[in-house]
Amino acid sequence: MPEAPCAGQWDLMFDPSREAEAIALCNSGCFAFEACRRVGATEEYGVWGGEPAGGAPVSRLRPLRARAVDLLRSGLRNVDVARETGLSSRTVERIRAELRSAA
Ligand code: SF4
Repeated sequence: MPEAPCAGQWDLMFDPSREAEAIALCNSGCFAFEACRRVGATEEYGVWGGEPAGGAPVSRLRPLRARAVDLLRSGLRNVDVARETGLSSRTVERIRAELRSAA
């Protein structure tokens, strides 16, 4: 199976300051484009299938993400971070994975 253009680029796909760059990557001919866009409709942040998650501007979610990062670094469990921020557990897990890969 081919690899998606975003493989290994979590930082880019979830960085609000690089949203245009992430969208361009999706639009570079990704085989998963349509399926990814459908998934993104139920996600809370990041770029999926060339669109911001849920159709919301990524920048709106920046404060929530920053808060989640702080809480995760303080040692809180995913479920507690999700409750504190209002983000889904799946999104919190994704943020934790980003932090792990960046360490
Ligand atoms: S469409 Fe989805 S799988 Fe493809 S590059 Fe964009 S985020 Fe990655």
